[in-house]
Amino acid sequence: MSKPKVAIVRYEKPLESVRKAVDLSDGLAGLSPGSKVFIKPNVVMWSRKAPFPKWGVITTSRVVEDVVVLLKERGIDRITIGEGPVLFDPKATDTAAHAFEGLGYNVLGRRFGVTCVNVHERPFKKVDVGGGIVLKFNTDILESDFVVNIPVMKTHAQTVVSLGIKNLKGTLHINSRKKCHSADPEKDLNYMVALLPNPLPESFTLIDGIFTTERGPAFDGKIRRSNLLVASSDMLCADMAAAMLLGYEPSRVPHLVHAARNQGRSADMSEMEVVGEKIEDLAAPHQYSFAYNDTETLPVGMEKMGIKGLSYPKYDLTMCTYCSVYTGAILTSIGMAWQGKPWDDVEILTGKIMKPTPGKKTILLGKCLYQANKDHPRIKEMIAVKGCPPAPGDVVNALHQVGVEINPSILENIESAPGFFMGRYKNKPEFDESLFRIE
Ligand code: SF4
Repeated sequence: MSKPKVAIVRYEKPLESVRKAVDLSDGLAGLSPGSKVFIKPNVVMWSRKAPFPKWGVITTSRVVEDVVVLLKERGIDRITIGEGPVLFDPKATDTAAHAFEGLGYNVLGRRFGVTCVNVHERPFKKVDVGGGIVLKFNTDILESDFVVNIPVMKTHAQTVVSLGIKNLKGTLHINSRKKCHSADPEKDLNYMVALLPNPLPESFTLIDGIFTTERGPAFDGKIRRSNLLVASSDMLCADMAAAMLLGYEPSRVPHLVHAARNQGRSADMSEMEVVGEKIEDLAAPHQYSFAYNDTETLPVGMEKMGIKGLSYPKYDLTMCTYCSVYTGAILTSIGMAWQGKPWDDVEILTGKIMKPTPGKKTILLGKCLYQANKDHPRIKEMIAVKGCPPAPGDVVNALHQVGVEINPSILENIESAPGFFMGRYKNKPEFDESLFRIE
């Protein structure tokens, strides 16, 4: 039996490069005219407040438009673009509409009849994805005939890489996304993510590596202009090849190992035929997480600042996105509050399974950790921030209560925070904003 093809193409020209990736990989060979197609870009987050770095975080609109043109050439008229961005404010369900307008998807609507759907506002269906796990999926993707999955080529602080398989998480109901960050060590985040492709129809994965991201998945990572496209009708193979391009053997990426095992395959390059460019010519190591100190109780940068009397243990796989959105903002606020005087043995715990250290003042961040530890006998002083996700004002109050006088402004204006990173890209023409517009 022939092996699935994975095309690796340098991004050089609009339309032409995507066409080459599609043709070399035979990625749309399984698509029949008249099919109902669901396009899943990666619009992981969006800020309505200010311009922010989209490079390496969000799928370029350039590639999305090129895919739509190629679908139209194949006689596809029913095209839906669907996404459910992570919301800074859980009530801000208009965020997706703002993103679709900002990314030019509404132009695709007017020009090609493409429909955009905000996953948060659409129906969900419970699906048994295997292993006894039931997740609520968006019905538009489930009821499509064919999925075109267009993730960004990026690393991820928890899952090492975030590519085609991981991109599907954005089609889940928020409660199911939280469920994926399970506290069960046998069925952890990697196990859950690997199950996500199971209920989908036939698909084509086109990984947008025009920009690639170190220490992803968000705007605080380090972005490179890499000009790569990876394409395959086999999602696992596309992900394995892209992982290699980011510097990771598939065997080092737990969710790819699970996915391969689920399909009775091996997590290595023997599974595919690579066409186009050679991986060894283009692979470049990308770190996937920020460095922590030896005890993993503070980021190295904060330890170097000399911070004493406070520990913020490194997140684990159980902390879901809605809590992790605050991590960077809290750490930055704490760093800014440091005046050189040791704090009073404070620890800040996150996720679902961390345990308090005897003798410390323990802030439990989020409902999960409060419930797990509220009766813990070793807690000296418990400060619980019970929300799910925690309310920014409550986080500020908790830190003030233990004497960490952070300025509330960063947390209270969390949706503006991505905009602070724009300065990094000033006068760097390779970070071209026009790739995120459709004229
Ligand atoms: S409290 Fe945090 S970790 Fe727990 S489910 Fe809510 S967002 Fe996720």
